[in-house]
Amino acid sequence: MLIMPDTSTAIASDLRRLLREDQVKDDAPTKTAYAVDASIYRMEPQAVALVESEDDIQEVVSYAVNRGVPLTARAAGTNLTGSAIGSGIILDVSRLHRLLEVNEEERWARVQPGIVLAELNKQLARQGLMFGPDPSSGDMCKLGGMLANNSAGPHTLRYGAVKDNVEALRVCLSSGKWLDARSYAVDDSRLASVLATHPSVHETQSLVQEHAALLEQKRPTVSKNSCGYNLFGLAEGLARGRLDLPKLFVGSEGTLGVFSEAMIRLVEKPRATLTALIHFKRLEDVGDAVPKLLELAPSALEIMDANTLDLIGRSKHGIPVDAAATLLVELDAGGVTVDLRKQAEQMAAVGRRYPLASEIVVAYDQEQRDQLWKARKALYPTLYRFDPRKKPINFVDDVVVRAERISELIRYLEEFFGGQRVPVAIFGHIGNGNAHIVPLLDVNDEQDFQKMVTGYHEIHQTVLDRFDGSICGEHGDGRVRAEYVAKMFGPALYDLFVRVKRTFDPSGMLNPGVKISDRPFTEHIDYTRLSKSCATCAKCNAVCPVYDIFRSEDMSSRGWFEIVTDKNYSYLNSKRVVEACLNCKSCRTACPAGVDVSQLILDRRAEHPNALAGTIFRFHAQSERFAIFLKWLARLQPIWDRPFMRRVLDLVSRPMLRHLSASARFSPQIAMPKLATRHLRDRYADLVPTPELGPRSKVAYFHGCAANYFDDGVGDAVIAVLRKHGVEPDLPPQRCSGTPIETYGHRELAKEGARVNLQSFAGYDTVVTGCASCTLMLKDYPKLFAGDPEQPAAEVLAGRVTHISEFVVRSSAKPAMASTGRTPSKVTYHSSCHLRAAGVTKEPRAILANLPGVDFVEMPDADRCAGGAGTYLVKDFETSQQIVERKRRAVEQSGADVVATSCPACMIQLKTGLPKAVQVKHVAQVLRDSYDAADRPADGVNR
Ligand SMILES: Cc1cc2nc3c(=O)[nH]c(=O)nc-3n(C[C@H](O)[C@H](O)[C@H](O)COP(=O)(O)OP(=O)(O)OC[C@H]3O[C@@H](n4cnc5c(N)ncnc54)[C@H](O)[C@@H]3O)c2cc1C
Ligand code: SF4
Ligand code: SF4
Repeated sequence: MLIMPDTSTAIASDLRRLLREDQVKDDAPTKTAYAVDASIYRMEPQAVALVESEDDIQEVVSYAVNRGVPLTARAAGTNLTGSAIGSGIILDVSRLHRLLEVNEEERWARVQPGIVLAELNKQLARQGLMFGPDPSSGDMCKLGGMLANNSAGPHTLRYGAVKDNVEALRVCLSSGKWLDARSYAVDDSRLASVLATHPSVHETQSLVQEHAALLEQKRPTVSKNSCGYNLFGLAEGLARGRLDLPKLFVGSEGTLGVFSEAMIRLVEKPRATLTALIHFKRLEDVGDAVPKLLELAPSALEIMDANTLDLIGRSKHGIPVDAAATLLVELDAGGVTVDLRKQAEQMAAVGRRYPLASEIVVAYDQEQRDQLWKARKALYPTLYRFDPRKKPINFVDDVVVRAERISELIRYLEEFFGGQRVPVAIFGHIGNGNAHIVPLLDVNDEQDFQKMVTGYHEIHQTVLDRFDGSICGEHGDGRVRAEYVAKMFGPALYDLFVRVKRTFDPSGMLNPGVKISDRPFTEHIDYTRLSKSCATCAKCNAVCPVYDIFRSEDMSSRGWFEIVTDKNYSYLNSKRVVEACLNCKSCRTACPAGVDVSQLILDRRAEHPNALAGTIFRFHAQSERFAIFLKWLARLQPIWDRPFMRRVLDLVSRPMLRHLSASARFSPQIAMPKLATRHLRDRYADLVPTPELGPRSKVAYFHGCAANYFDDGVGDAVIAVLRKHGVEPDLPPQRCSGTPIETYGHRELAKEGARVNLQSFAGYDTVVTGCASCTLMLKDYPKLFAGDPEQPAAEVLAGRVTHISEFVVRSSAKPAMASTGRTPSKVTYHSSCHLRAAGVTKEPRAILANLPGVDFVEMPDADRCAGGAGTYLVKDFETSQQIVERKRRAVEQSGADVVATSCPACMIQLKTGLPKAVQVKHVAQVLRDSYDAADRPADGVNR
């Protein structure tokens, strides 16, 4: 019998012949990861193509169209409508992520579609510029998706939506030909050639001209609209003698062609900005206040209704209990003449006309402003925390009415959902009348499901009939609103949309089911996922160092959530991805929904503990014998740590290290710290309490393994700093905190060591740590022992763990400090991921900023993983070096000659990856140097 390959395998094999082997994926984990975006839907693709050039795009588009395989372009997959998932090929543009050109004078840039908005703006900030449209998902969404969705955001009030900020696009059409979509004068000879080359453009121009009256009649009257194709923009241009092609493609959601490049307009970054919160006692006053506030020309005007404030937690965000709605107002000082304080007074005068629930909160400082925005930007995924069953469901999430009718709309919605007994969050861009409506429902419950269907039709129809509004302001139609596009515009105009779609995509292979489709919005709903804890918002992808390198959803935090929680998960077919996580915990710190993807991965690894790591850690657990072995290695280090011997060691250790992971090696490039011939516990034997006498101090130092075994001065510095603060710490017996042990799946062994630590540190009021990973692990012991008898003791210990930087900041002692040199040294801070996850971020910076003779500079990407993460440097050296590259650029940009940090693995990684001229030190070492300098006799150096 002839066995035919399944279609999926055949498509992937075909694509592999067109692209490079590693650019095409069709294994089970990849398909699982790409089956979701940030919408309520799920569709598994047959293959994923990671394109890297225009040729790649052209090959994939032509293949899909000629073979009749649905093709979905995808950027970050953060859309809320199901437009970046599909049943055929996913063409992921994430590897096309460069800022190609910036023209500062004329204020435009050429960008690729895979660049993340936040990244783009970070690069543009160096020239004092930015891209105006700012979706709240700006940390993770990419330009390709923003262009295709006509995204907008809080600052659209000032800068417009994407459609108002695009000069030109490079579009691969279904014909396989490239179109330079720009605004052409109708008598421009280049347009004649465009029309001759692309009959679809010609036909569309004719259709628009023919139906100009219909378009005029149906043009939405509200300030924002992303529903349907923007033929209105084309008609408007033609009336002025121009064929403005970007207007057609922006907002087309991958249904008319694929973008490889865009020329976007830029704006000047505001010189100063004020952000304010106004808490109204009565909702009806908001509608009255909005036009008055708009007179101040705010750059953003956002609303959160009472339900939203309840759902996100009022006390947590300092919101008064009696606030019926909160407005977030932002005012920019665009020019030097604008006086923000005067504007603030005018704003306060508007506020004083109404009963407010509290004083207006005003912030000028960037950090405070970020704080005010934080809750607003992460609203939707934060709502995932509210209830384990009822989830925020986006199905009427993006309506637009006239700004002055927003209170009326909110009142109507509150009554509607009140009648349904459904909790709902209503928030959004009130200045544009754009409301995001997110009801919390359990779609697996029949009654809730019916409420969703009823709400979908009733609310959309009311927005059209009563408010003369739009069903879609910025999120796009996707799968969720496609069914309603015809109702919004009527059959004649919808028919025009269908004709435009057919002329550009006769085979119907470009993102079928999206925008132009009569399929019901309930098709492809992901009922399983909507009972899980992850909002699929991709905020974690934005911080995941692995995703940053591979730019492929199967190698990302969000993708891993999908993979490890999938009902068909198997370690065997997912090992490749499950073992790729660094356990850096950046995802956990970033997740607004409270998901810890790294923990889920550790749970899966615990089902398959690594045998070689287990042998090493069991040997390690025998502290005495392991210590003897390390001292022996320390004595021989001058021999084995020579370049030639390191190369030999690398070669001979590879077969063994393969048992750790396929990529594991002991690279000669790793900057090995000097092993100590006398361990910290030997050097400070007088601080080691005897079992008979027990604790001699209220403060214990949990030094961990690195500070004990390495001769790197970190442990000495921590002890010296403590002594300066009048504390003589104890060094009780201790075992590895457990981080690396758990990373290799040996949870029971980690618990065994943790039990020793719980007992050993029980008698101390404060347990000081120096190592970032030990700090986090000790604070996480309650999770490690969740449900076990040790949990209460673990909670007590976790409450006592204090990083040395926290200890110093809280200490009442203020030891003298002095400059260590004649010229100030420039110091920057690398915020180790585990210390960040432990909540320690401000203290190390505060210490460094206060040191005399130190010029403390914040480096870009200070909060990004450096790629060391415990033993990752050994487990996958090549990837770890790719990760550290971003840190190297950041340090270089900061101009610092010293990088201070808190984690031994980060220190090794930074010493390996940074130029030799840059010194890498523990925060305690930098501080100790300052104390020591003050002790030296005066030498004319400033104190
Ligand atoms: C928490 C959260 C907040 C959000 N806030 C906002 C907001 O304030 N404003 C807003 O407008 N949106 C918002 N969104 C929705 C979404 O983030 C934006 O629409 C975003 O611009 C989508 O970008 P993306 O890179 O994720 O695109 P994707 O989701 O990957 O794709 C979106 C669409 O673009 C198409 N596409 C992608 N790349 C290309 C290409 N190269 N060529 C052709 N088509 C392409 C896809 O086929 C799809 O149709 C939010 C989403 C979340 C999760
Ligand atoms: S884990 Fe958290 S941050 Fe990541 S996609 Fe899910 S909800 Fe978003
Ligand atoms: S722990 Fe780090 S590497 Fe692992 S998924 Fe989270 S962010 Fe990515």
